Amino acid sequence: MGKPTGFIEFLRELPSELAPLDRIRNWDEFHFPMPDDKLRTQAARCMDCGTPFCHTGTLISGMASGCPVNNLIPEWNDLVYRGLWQEALDRLHKTNNFPEFTGRVCPAPCEGSCVLGIHNPPVTIKNIECSIIDKGWDEGWVRPEQPRKRTDKKVAVIGSGPAGLAAAAQLNKAGHWVTVFERADRPGGLLMYGIPNMKLDKEEVVMRRLHILEEEGVKFICNTEVGKDFPVENLMTEFDAVVLATGATKPRDLPIEGRQLNGIHFAMDFLTTNTKAVLDKTSTSLSAEGKDVVIIGGGDTGTDCVGTSIRHGCNSVTQIEIMPKPPEARAADNPWPEWPKVYKMDYGQEEAAAKFGDDPRVYITTATKFEGDENNNVKAVHTVEVLWEKNEKGQFIPKHIPGTEKVIPAQLVLLAMGFLGPEQPLLDALGVERDARSNVKADHGKFATSLPGVFAAGDCRRGQSLVVWAINEGRGAAQACDLYLMGNTDLPA
Ligand code: FAD
Repeated sequence: MGKPTGFIEFLRELPSELAPLDRIRNWDEFHFPMPDDKLRTQAARCMDCGTPFCHTGTLISGMASGCPVNNLIPEWNDLVYRGLWQEALDRLHKTNNFPEFTGRVCPAPCEGSCVLGIHNPPVTIKNIECSIIDKGWDEGWVRPEQPRKRTDKKVAVIGSGPAGLAAAAQLNKAGHWVTVFERADRPGGLLMYGIPNMKLDKEEVVMRRLHILEEEGVKFICNTEVGKDFPVENLMTEFDAVVLATGATKPRDLPIEGRQLNGIHFAMDFLTTNTKAVLDKTSTSLSAEGKDVVIIGGGDTGTDCVGTSIRHGCNSVTQIEIMPKPPEARAADNPWPEWPKVYKMDYGQEEAAAKFGDDPRVYITTATKFEGDENNNVKAVHTVEVLWEKNEKGQFIPKHIPGTEKVIPAQLVLLAMGFLGPEQPLLDALGVERDARSNVKADHGKFATSLPGVFAAGDCRRGQSLVVWAINEGRGAAQACDLYLMGNTDLPA
């Protein structure tokens, strides 16, 4: 630990960012880099705990507690405090192939379990991680590294999201010839088409890493859906092993009256169309400009729809959430080191509040009907408040509260209510076993599916989750795959 009294002397400080009303004018990232001396002070707040919960990466009450890729956080905090940035970067890359992604988009379960967080605001771990890797890129320390020796084994990775990319990076390191198939026109999965550009820059951050992987020998084949454009049978004849990393992209629908009206879209269609337009420098075919937008779903995908709608110049935005508003501080049944389920404004809500005066989220509310005009275009969403009550089986059920009905004008409705698991056609064609939630059946830690030589990682195995879990799983699946191919492995999980 660089400074034993750092946590007493220094207060938590985050990097400054562009004001909401300024940043909504474009699609750029909006955090300013923090000067080195301030980062050093922030790193000095780390107490180098005997048991550093920040890097445990366990599940408590179904939520991540500590870093799922087991980042060596106290170690790199100490190195940053001592100004040893390149050593800090080496330490960071030991556990995480893509810290520039997690440093930008991770919700940071590490900070939720930081011991300092029991009594004080936690260490700014996420920002320190991001600053280490950004400095690494600026200084030219991140360079392609060819494997020392090539094996004669060929591996197909299906899907180029963070799970597929992590698996590809690790398998390539082990010397295998890796081909990544991606059905979209650009690689990156939800890092490319999902998370919007203002949270994670596509050209400067995502593509930069993809170019390094290419230079290291990973081959990307885009515009190719395995099972459609590339026959499933060829997978087994042309490759020695396969890693499935196809994500969990089947969206949850809301089959209520009026669902068929024009102007009601899945959030992912809206976000993907927008990012493609931003990257292709064209205008989007699904614009919120001048519209009253209602987003159904109060989670992160909904937040990205808020930020995107505001940048289009929407007339108003409302985000409907069926769950109650979280408390301001941890509830008694949500103690440290669990992920803190507390109320916070994310970037989209901050922007909505700056533009329209308030947090756009409306809690314990559900939509009951979509109302259309004479041309079958949606014009309003009917809502009602709910009360969560236990039924005879002990399950909580949302009961409509009479007299709380409202009608919200809407010419654009975005459904952001989560995902129901992976798309099934490829999995059916392969004949791979599924679990009860329709995910590919494979144990975490083993990642082996019911088919010999076929492994699964990321959202297609665990259901819609986080980038950091996808990286964890991609690394784990690569280790298991290497062991399968070679009989032993030096790859870390
Ligand atoms: P994905 O990223 O979904 O990638 C799967 C890829 O497989 C896709 O590109 C798909 O096109 C491809 N594919 C599927 N089938 C085939 C096939 N047959 N042939 C070829 N290619 C195929 N997590 C965070 O940690 N922080 C965030 O801020 C965050 N924001 C999010 C915002 C949105 C809008 C969404 C939807 C999710 C967000 N997540 C976030 C979750 C995170 O993005 C995912 O958990 C993560 O990307 C999963 O990685 P993956 O590699 O398993 O799958």
